[in-house]
Amino acid sequence: MGQQEAANINRQLPLVTDPEANRYINLLGDQIASRTSRADLDWRFYIVDSREVNAFAVPGGFIYVNRGLIERTENMTELAGVLGHEIGHVVRRHTVRQMEKAQGANIGVTLACVLTNVCNSQIAQAGINIAGTAVFARFSRGDETEADVDAVSNTTRAGISPRGVVTMFEKLIAERKQGRSAVAGFFATHPGEEERIVAVQANINRIPAATLRGLTTNTTNYNNFRSRIRSLPAPRQ
Ligand code: ZN
Repeated sequence: MGQQEAANINRQLPLVTDPEANRYINLLGDQIASRTSRADLDWRFYIVDSREVNAFAVPGGFIYVNRGLIERTENMTELAGVLGHEIGHVVRRHTVRQMEKAQGANIGVTLACVLTNVCNSQIAQAGINIAGTAVFARFSRGDETEADVDAVSNTTRAGISPRGVVTMFEKLIAERKQGRSAVAGFFATHPGEEERIVAVQANINRIPAATLRGLTTNTTNYNNFRSRIRSLPAPRQ
């Protein structure tokens, strides 16, 4: 997928345009992506201006993270874990298989549907049939397991603690148990439940304690980034 396709997608998604916030997420994303086997890709990281909790990857290295997810993070490791996971979906070409399933669907509209609650409003009102095309956005459980393994290795290689992969997951599952609809999209597109946490923790347990102790758990820059995101005008979606 070329730049042109990404530009089309971006026109249809509500994106956070704040330059400082975008600069930070691209720095963090590049720190992780540049140590993978696909350092050659022109990675781009975008913040979707939506309260819904989700993240998504598109072939070619385009990663979308919702503002609702970023606002819930406690520290840098939690966002890094999500980025490491989505980067894994790209590196392993899970995203390419998904796009093949989409078969010419309007990917921008489909992503807007998956990442925001726009499906329930404008698109539904416009009578666009999205039901068939939204299915493409769902990864298989096998893909999720692989991307979780990558989330741990990608963050660790970048010098960032993988602990956030576990704590972010715990947070989303706790919200789901409370019946919060904002996390429904995440579990719809990234299937798997508590067993994913157990598998990720087992992975982390294999990393030498001395290595783990040397990894970054948070930075002032991260806290500033999150404060900035939280201070932006409320999302419309
Ligand atoms: Zn996933």
